[in-house]
Amino acid sequence: MPITLPQLSRREFLKRAALAGAAATLAPSSHAGLFGKSRDRHTFAFFSDTHVAANAALLNSGINMADNLAACGRELAAWPVKPAAVIVNGDLAFKNGQPEDYATFGRLIDPVRTLAPVHLSLGNHDERENFWKAFPHDAAKLKSVPSRQAAVFASDRANWFLLDSLDVTLQTPGELGAAQLEWLALELAARPHKPAVIVAHHNLNTVGGISGLKDSAPLEELFAQHRQVKAFVFGHTHNWHVETHATGVHLINLPPTGYVFTKGRPNGWVRATLARDGVEFELRSLDPKHAEHAQVKPLKWRA
Ligand SMILES: [Zn+2]
Repeated sequence: MPITLPQLSRREFLKRAALAGAAATLAPSSHAGLFGKSRDRHTFAFFSDTHVAANAALLNSGINMADNLAACGRELAAWPVKPAAVIVNGDLAFKNGQPEDYATFGRLIDPVRTLAPVHLSLGNHDERENFWKAFPHDAAKLKSVPSRQAAVFASDRANWFLLDSLDVTLQTPGELGAAQLEWLALELAARPHKPAVIVAHHNLNTVGGISGLKDSAPLEELFAQHRQVKAFVFGHTHNWHVETHATGVHLINLPPTGYVFTKGRPNGWVRATLARDGVEFELRSLDPKHAEHAQVKPLKWRA
């Protein structure tokens, strides 16, 4: 299993918020909308590249990453329905995955945990051992692939495959590795009928313009071999965009909740709602005046 933070009850959340002190981002009053909404089992929320530092006041490129993550959480809480799950797709930590980064991240993600289970993946700015230690209860459930956290979970209309592409902390490229690719091939072969969405932090090396997966090619072979694979969702490039792979698999590049690499690109979160024959992705920019804010990308599954 990957690290999945179970949903928090109202009572658990309030207790944890009280223990964490009076931090404004955690004050129950600022999360009044968190409880009692109905759930849409086809809707999922994606956060990526949160880059939260131990010091919640730290700025990078003029952006307060902690404030941005909290703001995305509030927006999700204000959404008309609760999502089936939230996926935070790597680069949770600021730079090199310090234990205190994960402590701050954990506090900021608590309000989100009142909405739905939260699945966490790792990027090149994370440190696996520190991350596992920060969430010890959940880390105990790992090890479908040795030293990695790969998992599959099912929803009504798709199976979700969460991969671990962290190779070496602070080195830009990522790698899935032979063992994880073999695991993925077996898990896909065991689930041939339902659409499959694959999620990893790193981009394919041929897409996105910055150094991505060193072993893109064998992953792309799996796209070709397993026709139920319909979409690949990734972060890493801090550059929201959607395109289609030569095999017909949709490639969804998530925006960061933190800072962008190129001025003018949006940051924020993404809503994904599954249909029977496809999915709809919507950018929720933190700047509601951004030209791409609320842009909906309806994607049909390949045959
Ligand atoms: Zn990043």
